[in-house]
Amino acid sequence: MTTAEVSDDDFQEILAQTRHFVRSAVVPREQEILREDRVPDDLREQAKDMGLFGYAIPQEWGGLGLDLAQDVELAMELGYTSLALRSMFGTNNGIAGQVLVGYGTDEQKSTWLEGIASGDVVASFALTEPGAGSNPSGLRTKATLDGSDWIINGQKQYITNAPTADLFVTFARSRPADDNGAGIAVFLVPADTPGVQVGTKDKKMGQEGAWTADVNFTDVRVPAAALVGGSEDIGYRAAMTSLARGRVHIAALAVGTAQRALDESVAHAATATQGGTPIGGFQLVQAMLAEQQTGVLAGRAMVRDTARQWLTGQDRRIAPSAAKLFCTEMVGKVADLAVQIHGGSGYMRGVPVERIYRDVRLLRLYEGTSEIQKLIIGGGLVKAASKAAKR
Ligand SMILES: Cc1cc2nc3c(=O)[nH]c(=O)nc-3n(C[C@H](O)[C@H](O)[C@H](O)COP(=O)(O)OP(=O)(O)OC[C@H]3O[C@@H](n4cnc5c(N)ncnc54)[C@H](O)[C@@H]3O)c2cc1C
Repeated sequence: MTTAEVSDDDFQEILAQTRHFVRSAVVPREQEILREDRVPDDLREQAKDMGLFGYAIPQEWGGLGLDLAQDVELAMELGYTSLALRSMFGTNNGIAGQVLVGYGTDEQKSTWLEGIASGDVVASFALTEPGAGSNPSGLRTKATLDGSDWIINGQKQYITNAPTADLFVTFARSRPADDNGAGIAVFLVPADTPGVQVGTKDKKMGQEGAWTADVNFTDVRVPAAALVGGSEDIGYRAAMTSLARGRVHIAALAVGTAQRALDESVAHAATATQGGTPIGGFQLVQAMLAEQQTGVLAGRAMVRDTARQWLTGQDRRIAPSAAKLFCTEMVGKVADLAVQIHGGSGYMRGVPVERIYRDVRLLRLYEGTSEIQKLIIGGGLVKAASKAAKR
């Protein structure tokens, strides 16, 4: 079991401040975020000052140093409002930042991590390509050696925070897959490197204020020092580990959003009337609330247990996928019920559950679709059983 860098008392303080920030500063501005399709600069600055760009980066590198058990508690608070808020610093703490934390050389860490932790640097995780999403081992972006430099060519899509990124944590094939591994390396590519071109912002279904775009790499030259961990064989493993950790966080985020959808539903059911009767008095409405509440409680217990198992090292593969699968499907159902409880008003722009319904749809798609989580869980169980049978 790893020991937490942050004491429980200090963490409770961080959690309380985050909860206060989310509920008193961000929730009242959800409509503005939606309308303007951006997180206002003053909220970004407040998040920066609170250390939220680096909550999961070790203190040694300027972050708050939360462990995964603390991370999920924070994520449940962040999920309570527009998911664009979390997305703004999600890649720094999560998929991009954790590649550096887990696999970077000391030199790479000291060059980049302090900026990432403070929010002065926005890091994006550039793995997905057309035709290589669920199966990243099929990626075609190429890295070729030229003297001691690497030349990168390829195309990435749907890259979160690409329009504001300073650094792309970029996955590229340096050799064909062979018995020694997937042949995928990962490079630190500053966004202003000649040949890096970020496309226009994608128009998405939801999560207004969270931006994604294509990123094209044309003869992008980076030095040997840009190869993460100084080894070509690290990329695939780094991507898989970073994504597995990220899945626990996404599961917790889903629980936070489900709690919000439930709170909105209860408030509506208690006050809205039909024929003079509060709709919350109808048992079929109560049944919907009961289903929502049960999902939230089950999800919360699951993410806490999964984070614990991650920290002890007991399970860093099946449990994260199971938590992501359950919690993201759960919030989809809870959001759907929330719209149902709101009746026609639930379909109207400006009503929080309408935003939530669209925001949470993404959670079942990225960082591994629900189908991919099922393959990881089922495949992992069978593999473990066959191994045991051979012993
Ligand atoms: C808003 C947004 C933000 C994103 N941010 C990032 C980011 O920052 N960095 C990044 O690298 N990527 C990012 N992604 C990409 C995301 O991770 C992929 O879209 C996702 O993994 C699915 O890949 P795909 O889109 O290629 O779909 P596909 O893989 O083509 O999936 C299509 C369907 O086929 C199913 N399927 C695929 N393979 C199998 C299989 N073997 N067995 C059964 N079913 C299968 C899928 O489950 C799905 O239902 C983002 C995507 C979105 C939409």
